[in-house]
Amino acid sequence: MRIVHTPEALQAVGMEWRRQGLKVALVPTMGYYHEGHASLIRYARSVADKVIVSLFVNPAQFGPNEDLEAYPRDLERDSALVRELGGDLLYAPDPAGMYASDHATWVEVPALAGTLCGVSRPIHFRGVCTVVMKLFMLAQPSLAVFGEKDWQQLAIIRKMVADLNVSVEIVGRPIVREADGLALSSRNVYLTAGERAQAPQLRKSLEMAARLAADGERDAAVIVGAVRAYLTAHLPAGEEDYIAVVDPASLVRVERLEGDALCALAFRLGKARLIDNILLKVEG
Ligand code: AMP
Repeated sequence: MRIVHTPEALQAVGMEWRRQGLKVALVPTMGYYHEGHASLIRYARSVADKVIVSLFVNPAQFGPNEDLEAYPRDLERDSALVRELGGDLLYAPDPAGMYASDHATWVEVPALAGTLCGVSRPIHFRGVCTVVMKLFMLAQPSLAVFGEKDWQQLAIIRKMVADLNVSVEIVGRPIVREADGLALSSRNVYLTAGERAQAPQLRKSLEMAARLAADGERDAAVIVGAVRAYLTAHLPAGEEDYIAVVDPASLVRVERLEGDALCALAFRLGKARLIDNILLKVEG
């Protein structure tokens, strides 16, 4: 496995592999790997000739009061894992290499970025879209792999590549969880033991939402209300950012479930902001 640190080096490899007609998969990450990241890299390895993993804590997607400095980092452990999983290239740039001091171009999908996480994180998805687009231009992959844990991110990137005719196939992969249901996240290290013990209630509340839908509940407000009541009782240390039932592709709020919908939530728990989601399956 090669490690490169500059955009020029990544682009040289990406162009060469494309010239050779190889199928290249890109897995964009911010590092501090867990089994969720590993599942994306394994998937990429299983479908592509070459696997590029990018590891970049992207300053452009952090707001002024967010955890850019505190975000956990361990390049040595992460690079060992990518090597072990059969990655071909790890791209680990410096912020100054990715953004010139006069950087002035942004990619935005406001219609999908102004809801859910975008309400409390107004510049987040603009930072994500811009860095992902830059990574696409550099690595020139055939496909890129993302986790469904960040469902809104995945929906926005799908819309971005469709609208801009970007010839990269976007693949979404299932959420990897701890045995007790908590979605794996690099930010789970922020949780105290007490918070960690309560955190699986988020998943339990979403499973309840899915059961309500499966049992025939079609009123989204009833489902949101039930999730809220459950978490008020079982996650007393948590502070709601949002609980919503939306169309899985457009992310528009749904009033009545007429097809599959997504129930998504974000809660603050101590120093961590945790997100999770579940598909509400509607028969017929
Ligand atoms: P991050 O390093 O947190 O920016 O995540 C990099 C990629 O890993 C994104 O596509 C995430 O959606 C994905 N990811 C993060 N956590 C999980 C998880 N628990 N299961 C599956 N994918 C995940």
